[in-house]
Amino acid sequence: MTTRETTQSEQLYARAQELLPGGVNSPVRAFKSVGGTPRFIDRAEGAYLFDADGNQYIDYVLSWGPMVLGHTHPKVTEALETAIKRGTSYGAPTALENQLAELVIDVVPSIEMIRFVNSGTEACMSALRLARAYTGREKIIKFAGCYHGHADMLLVQAGSGVATFGLPDSPGVPSGTTGNTLVAPFNDLAAVEALFAQYPDQIAGAIVEPIAANMGFVMPEDGYLQGLRDLCHRHGALFILDEVMTGFRASVGGGQEAFGIDPDITCLGKVIGGGLPVGAYAGKRAIMEQVAPAGTMYQAGTLSGNPLAMTAGLATIQTLREPGLFDQIAAQTQKLAHGIAERARAAGIPIQAGHQGTMFGYYFLKSDGAVIRDYASAKEHAHTERYASYFHQMLDAGVYFAPSQFEAGFVSSAHDDTIIQQTLDAAERVMAAL
Ligand SMILES: *Cc1c(COP(=O)(O)O)cnc(C)c1O
Repeated sequence: MTTRETTQSEQLYARAQELLPGGVNSPVRAFKSVGGTPRFIDRAEGAYLFDADGNQYIDYVLSWGPMVLGHTHPKVTEALETAIKRGTSYGAPTALENQLAELVIDVVPSIEMIRFVNSGTEACMSALRLARAYTGREKIIKFAGCYHGHADMLLVQAGSGVATFGLPDSPGVPSGTTGNTLVAPFNDLAAVEALFAQYPDQIAGAIVEPIAANMGFVMPEDGYLQGLRDLCHRHGALFILDEVMTGFRASVGGGQEAFGIDPDITCLGKVIGGGLPVGAYAGKRAIMEQVAPAGTMYQAGTLSGNPLAMTAGLATIQTLREPGLFDQIAAQTQKLAHGIAERARAAGIPIQAGHQGTMFGYYFLKSDGAVIRDYASAKEHAHTERYASYFHQMLDAGVYFAPSQFEAGFVSSAHDDTIIQQTLDAAERVMAAL
């Protein structure tokens, strides 16, 4: 399957499968949907990953989004080197937490107050508890193919690994928990209106990814997000924007800035930790003041606001705000997305490609003219076999895209013109042979 040396990765994977379920600590890493041996990474630098056999890859996964400055950016590394000597965790408040809070409040338009947690999963789980506490209602609306982490009530028609593996709702999730989760198709306001009509005064809020980027890459249609927000407010429900992936990526201020949407609660993760484990839920002051100890909604964390994690997040977002930097990464992202679409068309391969800010995605389509706008059409039209073959040949050519058609891709400040051109040249060769 590969012309590259993979002996070390194969041996490590064999051993890992005896030690860890499936050999990994997060399912999509295992390459299940594309087959083959996952590469065990030894180190990373700039736009590159280096595996245990010494192979070098241009990285478009970037730890699934966080590494917007590339790997080992000197500003982040130096800040961490200084911070680590001051202790790694205190379990008491720090000035660093104020600083990152101030920065996020300044950057993300809707946010007035923030609570840091340790992952995107925790952020979304807590945001829903907050919406329920604030409204005194129990039901929530999510959208098919959107992924909000692995909390029980959100593991219903979820994206990411759940989409990749075509898993039904996971065993172990009690029906009592998901019984309050209502699911609507993405990009379909009428379906949401019907749910509000069916469950009057029972829906606490709707949670949505501004770009559905855990089922591939599906942009919101014109007016969709605003329409969703208006429907929520008309029915006394909160509008929750899950910006764990789009935060600091769709634009510096996230999808809400890119699309001009004012959510009640925002979920953050990935970039906010600059490669260390951080999540956050945040929003309007009156809502956030329900959170303990200001209010009565309980939520806590031994390592929350961890000084190393705050430091990495601060250094990353501060650097990202330097004049011109974000626009430069976004321009490279556009060059990549357009370039891939052009080369696919030249090779006669039907494709639907998208990009926004520093993130992108593309589907190989089973037929020309097919349009993907929600989870059902993604499952129907995405040519997953062709993607698997393309993925492996690109990997062979030294380009590391996500090992699944149903994941987005990411670009960093380390992806310069040469790297983008090398990627497009490889894509051209591979697509010609597909
Ligand atoms: C990655 C992701 C999550 C989950 O974050 P974790 O840090 O993996 O728990 C939640 N929502 C969205 C939109 C994500 O992309």
